[in-house]
Amino acid sequence: MNLVWETYFQSKLSSLIETSQHRKLMETEHAEQAWLVRNGKKLLNLASNNYLGLAGDEQLKEAAIEATKKYGTGGVASRLVVGNYPLHEEIEQRICAWKETEKALIVNSGYTANVGAISALVNRHDIVFSDKLNHASIVDGIVLSGAEHKRYRHNDLEHLEKLLKSAKIEKRKLIVTDTIFSMDGDKAHLEDLVMLKEKYGALLMVDEAHAGGIYGRNGAGLAHECPQLAKSIDIHMGTFSKAMGCYGAYITGSAVCIEYLINTMRSFIFTTALPPGTLGAIGKAIDIVRKDETDRYRLIENGRYFRTALQEAGFHIGDSTTHIVPVIVGSNEAALRFSMKLQEAGIAAIAIRPPTVPQHSSRIRFAVTAQHTNNDLQWATQRIVQIGKEEGVIS
Ligand SMILES: *Cc1c(COP(=O)(O)O)cnc(C)c1O
Repeated sequence: MNLVWETYFQSKLSSLIETSQHRKLMETEHAEQAWLVRNGKKLLNLASNNYLGLAGDEQLKEAAIEATKKYGTGGVASRLVVGNYPLHEEIEQRICAWKETEKALIVNSGYTANVGAISALVNRHDIVFSDKLNHASIVDGIVLSGAEHKRYRHNDLEHLEKLLKSAKIEKRKLIVTDTIFSMDGDKAHLEDLVMLKEKYGALLMVDEAHAGGIYGRNGAGLAHECPQLAKSIDIHMGTFSKAMGCYGAYITGSAVCIEYLINTMRSFIFTTALPPGTLGAIGKAIDIVRKDETDRYRLIENGRYFRTALQEAGFHIGDSTTHIVPVIVGSNEAALRFSMKLQEAGIAAIAIRPPTVPQHSSRIRFAVTAQHTNNDLQWATQRIVQIGKEEGVIS
């Protein structure tokens, strides 16, 4: 490679190392269970988004194998060409029933759903109002759209209203938010957002990536805690990659909105359809989540136990009210050292640093799952508290 480029890459990497922001790929032999295996060592898995354990579920594996045997391993073409198998249509109907919505569209990932949908919905003449802690894929979608980007302070609806008020009345407005924030584990104030979007004639889109499969009626998402609320939200997006244990994502909304996206969303048009095996597993995951509430309740209970234990020990867990529990330590170095010590003690949990979270709020992001037993969590919190004391994070 040209020496100028090599030097450029090397200097960027060096500055990342200097600020403890450098990242490395680490091999994990298994991570689909409550305990994962890394370097041959068993670690309690508090690092995955496989919240219900469905990624290792035998019924999902069988459904994936069955669909693969019937249709092959590849999506073969874009859905608009010849990649639109009956599996797509059938699962989209199941999503409609699950989400109680007019239309649903399966897309390839949560990332491409947000990037594609937002850049299709708005353009450089429009304004997007986005929570400061929204996921990177939302930010990227807004940047790609060329729309004016107004970031409101996290969950600060007064700030949002001020921004809405100061925008020209004739401008088209989109409000977008995560329903459960991925690095903080707190919830968006959906009722207030609906009130504001109605008052200012905006479109409201929600991202249920961390709530789908867990919260709301039949695990349909946080918005579905109240059916009327769900109906008032224009566009719902959610993923099959987290609690659902598969891969891929969905967007739901009115028939005309989904037809518009099918015709304009470039990350949908110019990509190969999901592999049939993945679709088979998705169908099964939806069935399981709709039928079986035990694991969802268990997850919520595990979250409550874990949060309470850490909070009582004196940790700063932000505003978490869910199964995602951050322990905020501040500096990048402190977060890295904490996660290293956790690993030595038999716990896998990741140090999250900027740009994933704001400067000086580096943290350990713990995520409990429905598979964790009371013993697992009790054992883990004891070790976390001990390390917290050694590191001076708590006294
Ligand atoms: C993980 C995540 C995504 C991306 O979903 P993938 O299916 O992993 O691409 C989008 N939005 C939020 C809020 C997420 O946490």
